[in-house]
Amino acid sequence: MRTTRALPAVLALLAPLPAAYALPAQDRAGATGFDALFTGRTLRLDYHHVGTAGEEHVGVDRFRIEGEWPGSRVRLLDETNYGKYLFCVLDAATNRTIWSRGFASIYGEWETTAAAKKGWASFHESQRFPEPKGPAQLVLKKRGEDGAFREFFSTTVDPKGRFVDRSPVSPRGEVSALFENGPPARKVDLLFLAEGYAAGEREKFRRDVERLAGVLFETEPYKSRRPDFNVRALFLPAAGSGISNPRKGVWRDAPFGCSFNAFDVDRYVLTFANERLREAAAQAPYDALLILLNERKYGGGGIFNLWATIAADSQEAPYMTVHEFGHSFAGLADEYYSSQVAYEEFNPKGTEPWEANVTALLDPKRVKWGEDHEASTPLPTPWEKGAYDKVDLEYQAKRRRLLDEQASEEASEALMREVKGTTGPMLAAERYAGKVGAFEGAMYEPKGLYRPEVDCIMFTRNPSAYCRVCRKAVERVIALYAE
Ligand SMILES: [Zn+2]
Repeated sequence: MRTTRALPAVLALLAPLPAAYALPAQDRAGATGFDALFTGRTLRLDYHHVGTAGEEHVGVDRFRIEGEWPGSRVRLLDETNYGKYLFCVLDAATNRTIWSRGFASIYGEWETTAAAKKGWASFHESQRFPEPKGPAQLVLKKRGEDGAFREFFSTTVDPKGRFVDRSPVSPRGEVSALFENGPPARKVDLLFLAEGYAAGEREKFRRDVERLAGVLFETEPYKSRRPDFNVRALFLPAAGSGISNPRKGVWRDAPFGCSFNAFDVDRYVLTFANERLREAAAQAPYDALLILLNERKYGGGGIFNLWATIAADSQEAPYMTVHEFGHSFAGLADEYYSSQVAYEEFNPKGTEPWEANVTALLDPKRVKWGEDHEASTPLPTPWEKGAYDKVDLEYQAKRRRLLDEQASEEASEALMREVKGTTGPMLAAERYAGKVGAFEGAMYEPKGLYRPEVDCIMFTRNPSAYCRVCRKAVERVIALYAE
């Protein structure tokens, strides 16, 4: 069942701006710059990202016009330096970069797994950017071990040409607004997607969105920055409830193609059906996507500048909302180092990670979050790692046993509560708790990588908040979209 009942609410948003949104003087030049270069619509490049651990190729699929450009018309270049990759749009007439964004990808994770050493794989990806008025060169760059981006693919597009699909996006699902604070061009537009909700579960989806958006906007820095966000939801009914869970032999054709067991990790939820997702998401203006899974089983994932997935009915859904959105919105790294992941060498040894919240501390005198570090906190910062690791090792063993036994969600949740009860007070009692330093153990490496605070929602499920460095990274990304 597909309806477009709620669409007019969104279309109304795209109407001329009320006087309250008049551009301040310093922004007028930027807006003029935008209008001189871009049409105001969204152009999407769809492509296949193909390779092995040793080589990487890109093949263009198609160019697609979506709706009005929902992103900033002032912050055209990405100066955060976040992302494993960088996408650049160059004006062909002047060879000047007119738009850029950092991002990460499923391919970028996959190439670090054992499977990538054995054979090829192909992933469908998209880049959405403001449609240029004239011919443009589109460049994909990848970060090298020295931290610098290097071009590995380039193509050209003539937006006026016949290779750009300008057919209207087919209406599907229902878009509704949770709250709107201004025009999409001046706000962070967050869109929740319903994954695995049957037609009769529309109200449940709405309640799940309200509950988890509520958690997000009770957490800093989203709490203070709430007026900079618009939050909407897309309900696209599924044939049945839930998503595929291959380890239990459960198979569902969910609207966006999400499934547990991505990269053969039980609780990792991704979708590889990128085009299906993009065509549906194009119903509403969006800068960031949060996919709610109609699932009780703990699981999710988040990839920078792509989307996050969250099992809405899990006991840990509030934690996952903040943690996974930290990955997908601000490119935050996992600060934990002992959980089961498929990656073998996620960050090459001796190189500084690009993620804001992890450092290799190659120069201990100059930590990259130095502005938040007080001289009285030693670098690296001592903490009771041995005692923590002992507790964590026991937990990981119990967790594996539960997985092997295909234990109930209740049993897993009880274990998670037990761990929280033990490690929460342990970390809170640390001498340098709440101080920014460099605590060894981060991003899947017990040695050689450091996190900014002893505990953070990117490290454990204990706190409900980000550490100071993670909060600042989120703020920097908000600034790319909101004025
Ligand atoms: Zn953190």
